[in-house]
Amino acid sequence: MASKKRRKAARRMAKKHPVLTTVVIVLVLLLIGCCVLHTQGVIHIPFLDSLLTQDEENTGANGTKDSSQTVEGQGGAFTEEVISEISGSSVSIHFLELGNEYTGDCTLVKVGNTEVLIDAGSRKGSAAAIVPYVQNFCTDGVLEYVIATHAHQDHIAGFVGTTKAAGIFESFVCETIIDYPLYNTNSQIRKDYETLRDAEVEAGAKHYTALECWNNANGASRSYTLGTGVTMQILYQEFYETQTSDENDYSVCMLLTEGENNYLFTGDLEKDGEASLVKENDLPKCVLYKGGHHGSPTSSTTELLHAIDPDIVCVCCCCGSDEYTDNVANMFPSQAFVDRIAPYTDRVYVTTVVSEADEGYTSMNGNIVVYSKNGEISIRCSNNATLFKDTDWFKANRTLPAAWGG
Ligand SMILES: [Zn+2]
Repeated sequence: MASKKRRKAARRMAKKHPVLTTVVIVLVLLLIGCCVLHTQGVIHIPFLDSLLTQDEENTGANGTKDSSQTVEGQGGAFTEEVISEISGSSVSIHFLELGNEYTGDCTLVKVGNTEVLIDAGSRKGSAAAIVPYVQNFCTDGVLEYVIATHAHQDHIAGFVGTTKAAGIFESFVCETIIDYPLYNTNSQIRKDYETLRDAEVEAGAKHYTALECWNNANGASRSYTLGTGVTMQILYQEFYETQTSDENDYSVCMLLTEGENNYLFTGDLEKDGEASLVKENDLPKCVLYKGGHHGSPTSSTTELLHAIDPDIVCVCCCCGSDEYTDNVANMFPSQAFVDRIAPYTDRVYVTTVVSEADEGYTSMNGNIVVYSKNGEISIRCSNNATLFKDTDWFKANRTLPAAWGG
């Protein structure tokens, strides 16, 4: 009815003021034409920049564009060229920024057209940062594997999402879901995650616990081939089947292998879990280790580091946040973590850092990508590739260990 009325009014207007109507129509057509030519880069009209940028900011939270042209971290963008370079590698591992000042994990592993998403923190709203980033590398909308390491919010909230930011389960087809065999928490986020996970299973996904994988039980496998010569192994640790008061020790542990190169992911595993992991597995030297539990003082024990002798360590956290402690030395990545890592490598990278600015966070390295071209390792970061020890935050808040020249 309303649109009929509007059409009638427009016809009356056109009859009364034919010249004015023609001018308005021409102007509107001209504006549309300019917008099209501007977005395609044929012409450049400065005022359209701000107009169109505003629109993009409205479509995704935290400046994360929906456009497939670039991948926006909070502190930089991967150009189409870089995306194509990374996508052409044999293995790439992406440590994602999460669009807020909260620490959390989200790691994308890409092997050809096979993707594994390990965790989706830090809050439900992180889905607004994670989904468009992943879509640039997972172009068929299918995540072949999803791993939820343990039932804490900073690892599973983005699977759920919000009404404004669709979560991982809503945004992608998740074929095989592997998660924690045990939990203690009765949080709403765990229940929400499991409800959506079960709905995904109803829709055809497979779901296994890490213990089922280890036992090759109920259709699950201990080892999955992701691509030619690339395997994903679910490792064993005793807290898959032994109760503990520390939720973190339930973390699913995974080893990715391409030829000589090994990459280790241990979620938020703590020292007891790490001791079990070292005891139960013949761990190899690792080219990459995801800094355990965001660089906590209670993870990345010398026992584990001695076993894996890491070359590169990537930490997912908001560096220097007081979310968990007011003691600066224990803030992620902690001084104790730095001191234990230092004898092995100074190639430590960190996603995000607290900022004096209003938002409370900014990029450190930003989105960090470690990738292999047939065994040769490269690193790309969306903000910069400064080593952790050379950052301003490190210089102001950490003591340089002897192994790093301190
Ligand atoms: Zn965590």
